Amino acid sequence: MTNTRKPFFAGNWKMNGTKNSITELKKLKESEVVLGKDYDVIVCPPSTLLSDAKKAVENSKIVIGAQDCHFEKEGAFTGEISAEMLLDSGAEIVILGHSERRSYANESNETIRKKVDTAIMSGLKVILCIGETETERNQQLTQSVINKQILGCMPSNASYSNIVLAYEPVWAIGTGRTALPKEIEKIHFNIRKFLKEEFNEKLSQEIRIVYGGSVKPINAIEILELQNVDGALVGGASLKAEDFNDIIKSL
Ligand code: PGA
Repeated sequence: MTNTRKPFFAGNWKMNGTKNSITELKKLKESEVVLGKDYDVIVCPPSTLLSDAKKAVENSKIVIGAQDCHFEKEGAFTGEISAEMLLDSGAEIVILGHSERRSYANESNETIRKKVDTAIMSGLKVILCIGETETERNQQLTQSVINKQILGCMPSNASYSNIVLAYEPVWAIGTGRTALPKEIEKIHFNIRKFLKEEFNEKLSQEIRIVYGGSVKPINAIEILELQNVDGALVGGASLKAEDFNDIIKSL
């Protein structure tokens, strides 16, 4: 990473973790890398743990995030969680458009855009996930799929302070496979170019674009040193404070 954007690391616990897992957060809070570096460090536990997680990271720079929210502000939506509820439980940021939700919950770009708008309007920041499936990749559709997701999901008021983009090739999530550093750099570069064309130069230079998909302590260095990679969105390896810490330390 050779730029002036503030490094951004987020851990996505997905549907993992009970009250016992809060000890991992306490370990992370005490780790030297979190204490010492001027990075954004976010942990997104399941919603049931938000309040406990918030308490556990008090007086530290770790920020608590959530994994999804509904696009309506409130109402008869059994089982759903609103942006306001997340804020009320201690979250400051929310992951939206994750490929697991795009596939398991059939979320379209249109739905995601509505969620992004509601989240930002409510005062949450957003980690917006984009990325191609393996079939799309094999058909050389990566860039066009990503561009469509950006156009469909990014609000016109997107800025450095309300959105972080996460490029996550779907075939690399939870599989142990990662895109080659060369490919990642090219895609991140092209995302910036597209943002410059469709939004503006300032946004394209300022916005953080992080990589996600099987980021582990062993492969973090080669990914994080890329010029247009501003950090990582980490799933499996964020569940253990030591591994997440080792990834952050790689930069
Ligand atoms: P992974 O997940 O690190 O376990 O591949 C990344 C993600 O889904 O954000």
